[in-house]
Amino acid sequence: MQVALISYTAEPERTVAAAARLSTSPVGAAELLQRMTPEQVASLLQHLVEAGHLSPFEHASFTFAVEGISRACSHQLVRHRLASYTQQSQRYVSLKTLPFITPESIAAKGKLLGSYQAHMEASHKLYREFLEQGVPAEDARYLLPNATETKLVLTMNARELMHVCGVRLCLRAQWEIVELFEKVKIEVHKVAPFIARELKPKCYQMGYCDENESCGLIPTLKELEEDEAVTQGAGAA
Ligand SMILES: Cc1cc2nc3c(=O)[nH]c(=O)nc-3n(C[C@H](O)[C@H](O)[C@H](O)COP(=O)(O)OP(=O)(O)OC[C@H]3O[C@@H](n4cnc5c(N)ncnc54)[C@H](O)[C@@H]3O)c2cc1C
Repeated sequence: MQVALISYTAEPERTVAAAARLSTSPVGAAELLQRMTPEQVASLLQHLVEAGHLSPFEHASFTFAVEGISRACSHQLVRHRLASYTQQSQRYVSLKTLPFITPESIAAKGKLLGSYQAHMEASHKLYREFLEQGVPAEDARYLLPNATETKLVLTMNARELMHVCGVRLCLRAQWEIVELFEKVKIEVHKVAPFIARELKPKCYQMGYCDENESCGLIPTLKELEEDEAVTQGAGAA
């Protein structure tokens, strides 16, 4: 999987800070953008996150070229609606070869791996035969597996990135989309380190795990309440 940041709002963190400061300043955002010191920018961003005033983060957008993810992964990704996507079309691009993703759980099982690869090859062979028989690519693609690799361009603003990372960096999310957002975070860190630090699983944002069962990183609310009851009980004794 490759994720490359191909474009982004110039001075993303300063832009967020200038927009936020504008709401309480007599001068305009253009002047604030020039005038604010790096310390003022950092301190304001910290305040915005702590206060939950996240709308200024919508002014910083990031565009990524994503390659080598499965269609299973891209389908999960595009459920996030506050973003823009452009994906390589299976109607207009017919596949001469079938690049596909192999999950580790299958790669680790030698015999199953062979069956998996044979299935991919057979699907692709049938797909090519259908194309040769005049079936349009838009219909022949129905034969292709979820594992088929895809390429897309993704644009998200920083507020939506925080939200999506909250649910997709959770270790209970599916491994491929977790990996995708880990790479997104690395790319954002190169140009906006404060924003990148806020791209974290929702349990870090909330202080507890809201899944039925915690992965062990942070306790669930029920576990925290039980711990508190034990501590209070010990104090009363
Ligand atoms: C671990 C995991 C498992 C999942 N399993 C399934 C599954 O089995 N089946 C399934 O169908 N989906 C599944 N999903 C997808 C999930 O249901 C959501 O569709 C997806 O996470 C997008 O979430 P969202 O609406 O919060 O985010 P986004 O679309 O990214 O929107 C961000 C936020 O904007 C607001 N918003 C966006 N659009 C609207 C709107 N129209 N009206 C009001 N508010 C809006 C909401 O506050 C929302 O949280 C899963 C997701 C995860 C993370």
